[in-house]
Amino acid sequence: MAGPRLAHRRADQGGDPVRQGADLPDRVPRLRQPRRRNLGRLHLHPGERQPLAVRGQGSHSHQDPACQPHRRLPRPRARGPDRLGRQPHGPRRRHVRPRDAGHVNRIARVETFTVALPSLRDFSVAGGSVVQGGRPAVRVLVKVTADDGATGWGEATPIPSWTYETTESIVSTIEGYLAPAAVGRPLWDLDGLCRAFDRTISKGFSIGMPLARAAVDVACHDAFARSLGLSLGELWGRRRRDTIELAWIVATESAATAADSVTEGRAHGYRHLKVKVGLHDEDEDMAIVAAVRAAAPDAVLWVDANQGYTAAAALRVARRLADLDIAVFEQPLPSNDIAGLRRLRDASPVPVAVDESLRHPSDLATFVRLDAIDVAVAKVQRCGGLTLALRQCQLAEDCGLAIMGSGLTESDVGLAASLHLFAAFGVDTPVDLNGRQFIASPYATDPVITVADGVAHVPTGPGLGIGVDEQVVRALAL
Ligand SMILES: [Mg+2]
Repeated sequence: MAGPRLAHRRADQGGDPVRQGADLPDRVPRLRQPRRRNLGRLHLHPGERQPLAVRGQGSHSHQDPACQPHRRLPRPRARGPDRLGRQPHGPRRRHVRPRDAGHVNRIARVETFTVALPSLRDFSVAGGSVVQGGRPAVRVLVKVTADDGATGWGEATPIPSWTYETTESIVSTIEGYLAPAAVGRPLWDLDGLCRAFDRTISKGFSIGMPLARAAVDVACHDAFARSLGLSLGELWGRRRRDTIELAWIVATESAATAADSVTEGRAHGYRHLKVKVGLHDEDEDMAIVAAVRAAAPDAVLWVDANQGYTAAAALRVARRLADLDIAVFEQPLPSNDIAGLRRLRDASPVPVAVDESLRHPSDLATFVRLDAIDVAVAKVQRCGGLTLALRQCQLAEDCGLAIMGSGLTESDVGLAASLHLFAAFGVDTPVDLNGRQFIASPYATDPVITVADGVAHVPTGPGLGIGVDEQVVRALAL
């Protein structure tokens, strides 16, 4: 019960607990306590009674609807279009308690669930393995509950081969630092939440622990929008597209199997392709790209090296890619090789896109000042969540850069967040949201995101616009 006690104590002290170094010795040993299976860690609003599910041995309160994840709340009777013109057969809305005038809805609880999701096939990038077919794919789901009972979900993807954040570090960062900083804050103040996280976890070079931050940030966006009965696009006042085209990912071992992957993607209705390079030597990489181009002569095709080349190798590869009608050469160099990316951009016949290098909007500002970038890749988790991703996309747009979209092999919660972001900026090029290709989301329930013929429909319901079956989440928890 380390989480609730810690949250109460800090809130009672009335300040930012993480800046009070005296708390640190208490916190560290508590984080090492074993977790009870299927119970998320809770951080409670000051004065709130602990749910029986945490105080007891897994039982649930029969009084508090927020503590009854297995019970369905009553559905409103649909009589016609609502005030936003949506028909009553649309996604189910969650009832929340009506707010009194002047009442400030606050973040009451933050829970983490480390879940094991079914994997569908192997997936590797230049840094290493992302998904191993037949082995569970671990994701950290976060549930935020507000004073009025509104809830929201977020997701973090621990891929140590892609980033420094691990399952353990994401969970401990949320439970020991981000959740105590979030509980008690006004739900509407998403910018304030972002700044509180900046004070709680050092920015390092530009942002610290972005994946952990993103999971809480997205859950708060979801809960806030749901509390208002608005979709994220309506909350932001921007939704330029209703559909987003996805790309099929080719991350194959050899040129001999590349065409098979293209055929499989085409069978699923995908028209456009992204090829992972940097996994082999230059000649093998180029042979794979050439095989993909031969199998899909009419596709939009781009390559992603995930930092896998040296500057000299990247320039050689770029010149060969130009002959294969490659749209974009993504992250060819290590993320901190800004000078190298600038030189490559000047010499490359193929536009250079930057992904891993853009953690924070200030990183993008640096690339813009140095004229070192053609395309900015938008990615929710890499940016620490939607608040900062929106700022980064807006900066890219205002600077005249093209925006492409990508993800971190998220399940459906992360997929929904990314779709809303890309729709907000009207991303009309195929995006790399490849979660459905490699993992399953058994917790997803009505309404479920529709992906047909490689095209994802941006959810329209409140919040993220998707359903999450908490009973399944708890059953999947490690
Ligand atoms: Mg990338």
